[in-house]
Amino acid sequence: MSTDITQLILELHEIEIMETLIKEVEADLKDGVPKKLQNELDALLKKANPSSLEPMLEDIAVHTGASLTREEAFATKRCCKCGKPATNFRDECSRREYNQTIWCQECQDKFFGV
Ligand SMILES: [Zn+2]
Repeated sequence: MSTDITQLILELHEIEIMETLIKEVEADLKDGVPKKLQNELDALLKKANPSSLEPMLEDIAVHTGASLTREEAFATKRCCKCGKPATNFRDECSRREYNQTIWCQECQDKFFGV
């Protein structure tokens, strides 16, 4: 029971960090995403649980990517991170990943370090 609460607090803390970061990103995002900030975002996202961060993923996609919402990108079969068409995937796993992150194969590979 106590481990569950610890886990929950950790997750909430991560969400707090994400929200702070997103606000900073929004303030800084006049000329695109600074490389350092993008790396920090990627690192945080990698640690975080994607299902609990759905709304924030949406925010990040809009502010760091090609200005596509996940919905728009998904509807037009594009990547919400780079805006390129996302139609070719290596395997079923990558295809499922697209349904969640709306990232093309290339962006997935970059993110996961493949
Ligand atoms: Zn992409």
